[in-house]
Amino acid sequence: MTTGHGHREKDPVAVVGAGLAGCLLACYLARAGYRVDLYERRPDPRAGSPERGRSINLALSERGLDALRRIGLEEQVMADALPMRGRMIHPVAGQLDFQQYSHDGRRAINSISRGALNNALLAAAEAAPGVTVRFGHRLTRLDPRTGEMAFETPEGEVRVTAPVVLGADGAGSAVRGELAAHHGTRESTDWLDYGYKELTVPAVDGEFALDPGALHIWPRGTSMMIALPNPDRSFTCTMFWPTEGPAGFAALRTPAEIEDHFRTHYPDVVPLAPDLVDDYLANPVGRLGTVRCSPWQVEGRVALLGDAAHAIVPFYGQGANCGFEDVVELDRCLTETAGDWGRALPLFERRRKENTDAIAEMALANFVEMRDKVASPVFRFVKTVEHALERALPGRFVSRYELVSFSTVPYAQVQRRVRRQQRALGGTAAVLAAGLAVGGRLIRRKP
Ligand SMILES: Cc1cc2nc3c(=O)[nH]c(=O)nc-3n(C[C@H](O)[C@H](O)[C@H](O)COP(=O)(O)OP(=O)(O)OC[C@H]3O[C@@H](n4cnc5c(N)ncnc54)[C@H](O)[C@@H]3O)c2cc1C
Repeated sequence: MTTGHGHREKDPVAVVGAGLAGCLLACYLARAGYRVDLYERRPDPRAGSPERGRSINLALSERGLDALRRIGLEEQVMADALPMRGRMIHPVAGQLDFQQYSHDGRRAINSISRGALNNALLAAAEAAPGVTVRFGHRLTRLDPRTGEMAFETPEGEVRVTAPVVLGADGAGSAVRGELAAHHGTRESTDWLDYGYKELTVPAVDGEFALDPGALHIWPRGTSMMIALPNPDRSFTCTMFWPTEGPAGFAALRTPAEIEDHFRTHYPDVVPLAPDLVDDYLANPVGRLGTVRCSPWQVEGRVALLGDAAHAIVPFYGQGANCGFEDVVELDRCLTETAGDWGRALPLFERRRKENTDAIAEMALANFVEMRDKVASPVFRFVKTVEHALERALPGRFVSRYELVSFSTVPYAQVQRRVRRQQRALGGTAAVLAAGLAVGGRLIRRKP
């Protein structure tokens, strides 16, 4: 059967969660000719003010941009983004150290507010033909065998049945919970002993207080702080600290303790953050974890994507990028199976699972790199060698960072390729790195 638009009349699809992945998915499904009901538990976020201390600015990189580009949204979204071409390391004392991300210094990851990105995608979804967004609808029950759903709404419970239900409802997914309860999906969340809290560095006389072309990092061994620029010329700083213990959030209680701690460990931030103590005391500590689950889909009728299927820790800046890649892959699977959900959803899970497992692993490993290694001369040296190799062997040697952030090579292939490169170069690089470490120690010992 065809509709007035020339599309085959397709099963209507229920998407649960109008976050980043859900909104983009609605746009892609609409383009493919589906009617989409997008259910969101919150009221329309464009009407209210954002939650304090949860502004979260994201680093959007090639995978996310590729997904936006394919549907004509890149330009609109990037209008609000600020490119960051490298990391700026802030030691406790001494010079700042800028480390460019790519060998030519040209490639950038892009700072964008999660709220602004979500609003832009929401507007695009609403404008897409056949998409209806239903705010104030919190999924409370789902029978995966029948597609019957119950939503809590301000007007009471609403029941709906949909032939296809896609869960894009984030790390604490209710859809995933229902698959675990009724379908034997196994799920686990590995929480880090670390949390995050935000601080603001406002503009000074209308100008950025720090270099806006960099992602700023204060690596402090077992913890760290980062800062990303905002279009209003402020920076959002995010502390990633242990939740408990003497170096943790819980250890600082009074304004004097907070100021002391920052003067000792982050001395250059104190004069730039006039609301430091207020922000610290008022802003919440967010949790960080890795969600793993399997299977993600049931009989071609219900499936998970984005954080609902595979939330990861944020240290590679890939959670949203990866969720956007899911949308591209699901769209591809639907095209390849001519819209047969029974084949498309299992194919989607098969193709994505090893990749999302791979980025989960790389994101955890990158925490140690960011909070500890980036400050060491050995790290700096290894990056210099990597960039030299990239220049000398274009396309043959490509660093992990480059492959993850500036390409769409599937994550699992990135891991395999980097291991191969490391094996091939391991001997040479290790000898050079050891030489530098010894050299560094000798230099430091000189009177
Ligand atoms: C501190 C921090 C820094 C980050 N930095 C980056 C970064 O630099 N780069 C990057 O790519 N990613 C980053 N991320 C990750 C990124 O924010 C997530 O991966 C992304 O938001 C996931 O998108 P999603 O649509 O899957 O889920 P979400 O954005 O969480 O959206 C889920 C939606 O579902 C709704 N919902 C939830 N439950 C229900 C229900 N029962 N019924 C109906 N609706 C429901 C929610 O209200 C929400 O709107 C970061 C995350 C954190 C915490």
